[in-house]
Amino acid sequence: MSIELTQLLDLPNVYVERQSINELGIFFYLQPLAQEILCPGCGQLTDIQHQARPLQVRDLMMRKKPVFLRIPRRQFYCKACQRYCTEKLEFLDWRRRHTRRFEEDVYERVQHSSLEQIAREEGISPEAVRGIFEHVAVESKKRLGRSKAHQHR
Ligand SMILES: [Zn+2]
Repeated sequence: MSIELTQLLDLPNVYVERQSINELGIFFYLQPLAQEILCPGCGQLTDIQHQARPLQVRDLMMRKKPVFLRIPRRQFYCKACQRYCTEKLEFLDWRRRHTRRFEEDVYERVQHSSLEQIAREEGISPEAVRGIFEHVAVESKKRLGRSKAHQHR
């Protein structure tokens, strides 16, 4: 475990186990800190780990190199309601292949740069940049809608 790299990466509830660099970029191997999670079904804590599948997601560049995170997506078993639940990490959505901050960064840059330019800088396709932009736009509209609904109450 590297405390310095964990601090450098600055993502909540995970730590850096090890790190490697090759021609593709910088790879951080992460482990979640939690020993147990709250079951979304019944709200009880469970520490029975069912499986952990390692996934790879893109994160913000470091020193102009692409950064990839390898994180186990952990599934727990809840005895109370006999169901499996996936651990949630606030900095990513398991269905996306990027961290939220990576997607927000791309979204911001699309405002004053072309899709092709960002695609070149990040080493991804212009379609992927467009996909990220549209996803973040929809998400922030949803958030805005929720906070407006809250104000009217
Ligand atoms: Zn439960």
